[in-house]
Amino acid sequence: MAGNILGTKVYYNSDCNLEKLVGKKITVLGYGSQGHAHSLNLKESGMDVTIGLRKTSKSWPVAEEAGFVVKETGEAVKGADIVMILTPDETQADTYKTDVEPNLKEGAYIGFGHGFNIHFNKILPAETTNVFMVAPKGPGHLVRRTFTEGSGVPCLVAVNQDPSKDTMEIALAWAAGVGGGRSGILETTFKQETETDLFGEQAVLCGGVTELIKTGFEVLTEAGYDPVNAYFECLHEMKLIVDLIYEGGFTKMRHSISNTAEYGDFVTGPRIVTAESKQAMKDVLTDIQSGKFANEFLDDSKAGQPFLKEKRTAASNHEIEKVGKELRKLMPWIREEF
Ligand code: NDP
Ligand code: MG
Repeated sequence: MAGNILGTKVYYNSDCNLEKLVGKKITVLGYGSQGHAHSLNLKESGMDVTIGLRKTSKSWPVAEEAGFVVKETGEAVKGADIVMILTPDETQADTYKTDVEPNLKEGAYIGFGHGFNIHFNKILPAETTNVFMVAPKGPGHLVRRTFTEGSGVPCLVAVNQDPSKDTMEIALAWAAGVGGGRSGILETTFKQETETDLFGEQAVLCGGVTELIKTGFEVLTEAGYDPVNAYFECLHEMKLIVDLIYEGGFTKMRHSISNTAEYGDFVTGPRIVTAESKQAMKDVLTDIQSGKFANEFLDDSKAGQPFLKEKRTAASNHEIEKVGKELRKLMPWIREEF
């Protein structure tokens, strides 16, 4: 039965009614990381899923090979009861205006894997449209793999517009259909999901972690240490430490490391992430909340991604990437391809 974790409502399979989706015409737009996982898991949960893509899409033959009927985006939206939008965030507003809105059935449900465009008012659905979110807390390939292994990635669900008065039931059925009900489906809002997701990936997970690793590597190599040692100490071992934190929190990690490492951890951590760093994180959060970050990101996309492309190239040319390429050859069990 539905439970409660620290004030957040949690649902399991027994709280979700998959019948809410049976017989409905379901369209998933996009067949990338999330799109392929939602579509395949729902199909194997017994649902009628059509894929919507651009004619030129690289994903088109991939989705067909997996047994789906694939149509151009506008055609795929026509007649659908539920449309899940799993295309890149930066193009969703254009796709919505051009292909979704003009073809959307009155009273249909639209779903999202991330609250970005609804929360920042880049997509403004008609009042008669139902709006929900199912956001698995993991990359699409994990959503698919865990489902085939009999488990599932926990999902967040939220409802933003509910003229039909059963949108949460649809969202819960969707989350269960993709496997989330096997571990837990947590109720949230578009605001909470969007702002915490953006903050986490920027300040801690992607931006914070890569900058920390890179700077540590630079300090050692600039001081004349061997890049091989610098790579192992600052990048490779990150996974070993994070795995311990993931399994049992900071306590398990600190139990596993030496007293020397633990003493240094307490002495040095606060010298690196200082009050100034915390203030910078607060400023980052303010820019996310105000929509400043969202607008800058969308402006760069509209201009052809000059910032994103320049930074991507520069980062992939950093010495740490070249050193890593060589050292990973010593460890053939590490899968480098993507
Ligand atoms: P991907 O980039 O992996 O896939 C996007 C898919 O959409 C591809 O099939 C692509 O095909 C297609 N596509 C691209 N542009 C358009 C367009 N203009 N019109 C129609 N189709 C298009 O996206 P993700 O799966 O990473 O992201 C989808 C959503 O899921 C986003 O809202 C994201 O925030 C959310 N999300 C993603 C997570 C992840 O792990 N990646 C985690 C949780 C949420 P092609 O380019 O061949 O045309
Ligand atoms: Mg995220």
